[in-house]
Amino acid sequence: MIDALAPDAGRLQGQIDELSAFHDSGRPGWSREVFSEPYRASREWVRAAMAEAGLNPVIDDAGNIVGRLPGRRRSGPALVTGSHTDTVPSGGRFDGVVGVLAGIEVARRLRETGTELEHDLLVVDFLGEEANEFGISCMGSRAVAGVLRPEHLDRTDGDGLALGTAMERFGLDPSAALGRPWRASDVHGYVELHIEQGPLLERSGHDIGVVTAIAGIDRLLVTFAGRSGHAGTTPMADRHDALVSAAAAVLTVERVGCGAPVHGVATSGHIQSGPGSMGVITDQARLWAEIRSVDGSWLHGARRQIVDEIASEARARGVDIDVEWLTDQDPVPTTEAVRDRITEAADDLGLPWKAVPSGAGHDAAHLATLGPMGMIFVPSVAGRSHCPEELTAPADIARGAHLLAATLLRMDSP
Ligand SMILES: [Zn+2]
Repeated sequence: MIDALAPDAGRLQGQIDELSAFHDSGRPGWSREVFSEPYRASREWVRAAMAEAGLNPVIDDAGNIVGRLPGRRRSGPALVTGSHTDTVPSGGRFDGVVGVLAGIEVARRLRETGTELEHDLLVVDFLGEEANEFGISCMGSRAVAGVLRPEHLDRTDGDGLALGTAMERFGLDPSAALGRPWRASDVHGYVELHIEQGPLLERSGHDIGVVTAIAGIDRLLVTFAGRSGHAGTTPMADRHDALVSAAAAVLTVERVGCGAPVHGVATSGHIQSGPGSMGVITDQARLWAEIRSVDGSWLHGARRQIVDEIASEARARGVDIDVEWLTDQDPVPTTEAVRDRITEAADDLGLPWKAVPSGAGHDAAHLATLGPMGMIFVPSVAGRSHCPEELTAPADIARGAHLLAATLLRMDSP
């Protein structure tokens, strides 16, 4: 029965190629950002692909495309799989897409083989998973988990457009998106197939990653206030240089990341300073940085360490700082029972697997509040992702889709 559910690898790859045609052709790589025209057009294609697979898709109140394959029970909690089809700017063709299209392929194979599940199977293309200018990633999965909040709708993009208005222009009702989250009784379990987006599987030669936990992410904005002055006449000892304090903070962030015991990373993503002239000492700087780990206690310690070290370094220069934590998201462990179903199915299919952490955020983290959750990773060539070079071999995608089907089948059993 399990072998019969092997995907039609050529058909699956063909669908990935078709979906990748929807992108902003004016930019390098694949840009299909949430609410963009290419995204709108691609969702029509996804909806048609789900309909053709017999999934009777609907757009739910949160803007997710939800396909349903009825199970024998015709009611009660559903098995859920899915991912997202939006991209970062100039991203790749596989991030998210693999999980949605593999879910559709699983549904096709179930129908083609006459395999009826006990539970309904939902295949979901979650709205807007990637980080965006509104600062709200995972919009659709947040909404179903009931953690999309009214204040999120007021967040604005670079043009001052509020998220709520952007949703309206996209044909969605923002208040409805807030109003009808799923209940735990709706979800029997969730499993998401995704590309690894890192190098661990390729380096270790494993076909499959079984995700242990999704990293927590803490993002901070540090504002440095110093004193401007003449770059030629102000002695070095008399300076309160905001940019130099910010530069030292960049090194602090990196040093703290390098000290992480398990999986921890720390990144300074953006820096601004002013007044911004060659001959003038800077009096203000802003630094955006983040730390991530699957180890919550390390994360909490690293938060303190970063702030303490930045503050003492700035104090020594006579620079004032203000620290604002923009997000504070704890790690989300996957559910042991789902990991067990994945590893049993992988052993059954003869697929070498390895337990791996996820440094990236995923819709699965929000689904975990509704029921048992697990994730399957397939290798990323050279660990590249969120760039045009992002690549996962067709054979690896097919193995992942096969394992997704086998895992869902095991989760379906009473
Ligand atoms: Zn993704």
